[in-house]
Parts: sequence; structure tokens; C-alpha cells
Amino acid sequence: MNKEPVNRELFDEVMVPNYAPGKIIPVRGEGSRIWDQDGREFVDLQGGIAVTCLGHSHPGLVGALQEQAEKIWHLSNVMTNEPALRLAKTLCDQTFAERVFFANSGGEANEAAFKLARRYAWEHFGPEKNEIISFKNAFHGRTLFTVSVGGQPKYLEGFEPAPGGIHHADYNDLDSVKALISKEKTCAVVVEPIQGEGGVLPGNPEFLEGLRTLCDEHDALLVFDEVQTGVGRTGHLYAYEMYGVVPDILSTAKGLGGGFPVAAMLTTEKVAASLGVGTHGSTYGGNALACAVAQKVIDTVSQPEILKGVKARSEKLRKGMMDIGERYGVFSEVRGAGLLLGCVLTEQWQGKAKDFLNAGLDEGVMVLVAGANVVRLAPSLIIPEQDIDEALERFEAAVKKLTA
Ligand SMILES: *Cc1c(COP(=O)(O)O)cnc(C)c1O
Repeated sequence: MNKEPVNRELFDEVMVPNYAPGKIIPVRGEGSRIWDQDGREFVDLQGGIAVTCLGHSHPGLVGALQEQAEKIWHLSNVMTNEPALRLAKTLCDQTFAERVFFANSGGEANEAAFKLARRYAWEHFGPEKNEIISFKNAFHGRTLFTVSVGGQPKYLEGFEPAPGGIHHADYNDLDSVKALISKEKTCAVVVEPIQGEGGVLPGNPEFLEGLRTLCDEHDALLVFDEVQTGVGRTGHLYAYEMYGVVPDILSTAKGLGGGFPVAAMLTTEKVAASLGVGTHGSTYGGNALACAVAQKVIDTVSQPEILKGVKARSEKLRKGMMDIGERYGVFSEVRGAGLLLGCVLTEQWQGKAKDFLNAGLDEGVMVLVAGANVVRLAPSLIIPEQDIDEALERFEAAVKKLTA
């Protein structure tokens, strides 16, 4: 076995250069703390980008993984397996869903959602009704279909020709949707209830309600991409509950496995019927290990105390960041919901979000960015209060140095 010591330089020698990771290589995590190769400790407000929703090495998740690992890891889709069926039943019980399709990543769950939306319209209304409306600055994944539906043209650059029939409206602007939607052509409207990568920008309630009405009027399906907002992130199991707007299809990933790769597409019985036998599939989708872990995640996160705890932690973290923002004149606003927060940089600091991330690392706190103008926080949903205090102290020290 290869036990050679590894360092950051090795990345540039052996990895495709599509990422630019920092110098630190974390080797161990517990709760909301992470240690690197040199034993330096960090408070983790990144949460693996809204993934490790129960922190690192959560005993319940470790237990679920170990228990299933000793039974059976994987079966083909020619079989079914107990963990997948149990998890699907739980997701149906806990949400609007009546049917579940399992995948391995957010991009794949969205790919399934978009294919299903087209197939449903094709079956019920004919091949002309194939257009998808999505939003500028949206992020839906990195497959060719999902970058095309996504609203950041730079992610499509050099990969064209892209799939056709996709239109981008302006987020939080119903009129821009009205200008594009039609009964003849539109099969789906795809939206993040809160744009995550696009800068932690919450949808206005009237906007999301309006999309529901427009979809109903035009026989189009409403697809919520909850890859980032799902699994307790907003203080609700899914953000659609917070808005009281029920989609026809919902994609969930990131937090679902708490760090184990798993994703799901949730939908109704009627819509699901359009993905008949042989129309779609995934080898690893519904993997027994992944579903056993996700079961423990959902069972844990859906407890009312945990969801209530998200709201309390959110208030504390939001207030702490607003105070820092005011003291040093760096943030104009802290927006988002629950433990998905975006600290919007003031005019003077535009384009400098990455500097805050790096300054934080120097002081022992890991924060994220969402674009160049927003510092994003997506910590564990059960981050101890004391770790929030310490993270804020460390972040303040970082901001103090940066602004000195
Ligand atoms: C992260 C993300 C995705 C893509 O998920 P992957 O697991 O990286 O494929 C899709 N949609 C949203 C809203 C996301 O935040």
C-alpha cells in the first residue's frame, strides 16, 4: 500500500487542475473542529460546502456506516435493498414526495429531474413542450445538461454545443418569467429557493408563490433544486416548507449523506410514472451503505429539537457576523436562512471574498465564499455554541488584520 507522505505540491503533479485547493490538508475532524497534517486546529464553518450537516465523525453516522458495512455494501438495480427502501419510505413520510429516485450527487439528481420534466411533458403534451426556464446566476451542477440549465455562462464556456430549449429569467423577477413561459413550450421552471453558489440570495416568498401559480397555469412542472438548502439547512427539513410552496420535483444531495455521497430526486406518483422501466438509471444510486448513512442523517436532522437548534444557532452566528461587519465596515448585509448565511461585502471590499477566507484560515477558522462578493457560512447544524463563539473571535481577529 502507498504510505508515502503527501503534500500540497503533489496535487499539481497528479491532479487535473480544475480545482485550486489551499495549502492546508486536513486529516481529521470531530464535530465542528478539523486538524491538519501539522496538528493545527480549525473551527469549521464550511461544513464541506453545506455537506457535513452533523459535523465530522458523528458517532451515529459512524455507527450506521459500520453496521451496514458488515452486512452488505452494494447490490445491482436488478435487486433492491433494505436501506434504500427504508430511506425512500422515510423521505415520502417526511415530505410532499410519493416517489424517490436515488443518485450520487446533486448534479445527477438534477439531471434526473430535468430529464423527468421533459419526459413527463413529452408523454402528456407532446414533443413541442420541452423548454426549461431557469435563472441567471443559478447553479445546478456540472454535467452538460445541468451547467446549461445553470445560469453562469462561464461554466459552459468551451463545452458547447449545449442542449437546447433552455431560457434564463431574472431571479426574484416574476415578469421576466411571464415573458418566457408558454403553455405550448414550457415543460418546467427550475429554481433554487435560495440561490447558494449565486451569493446566498433568498427567493422572495411572492416570487416562489408566483412561480407555482405560473407553472399551474401553463401545465409546467415546478422543480426545486434543494441540493444546498435541504436536509435542515434552513431550520426546516426542506426550504419549500418555509415558503409554503410545494414543488412537483425536488432534488436533494449535499447534506443528505452528511459527507457520504448520496442524492435523491423526490416527486409525486403521477409525475414519477413518466420514468418507466428502462428510461433512466444509476449503478451506484441507492447504494446500501449510502442509504444507511442517509437514513441516520434524516432521522437525526428531522427531530424538532435539531431544527429548532438551527434557528438558535443561526441567530447567534448572524448577529456575531453583523457586529463584526459593523465594527470593521466590511459587510453591508447578512442574508440567507438558518445555517446558510451570506455576508455581503461593502462597496469598498467588492471582489475580495477570497481574502476573508484566507485570512480566516490564518486565524484558525474555515469560512466559504459564494462568488467574489459574499462570505458564506454553512456549518454543522449541531455546531456547539462554544464553537460559534470561538469561530467569531477568530474571524474577528482575521478581519481586524485584513482591515488594518
Ligand atoms: C452543489 C450544488 C449542486 C451540485 O451538486 P454536486 O453534488 O456537486 O453535483 C447542484 N445544485 C445546487 C443548488 C448546489 O448547491
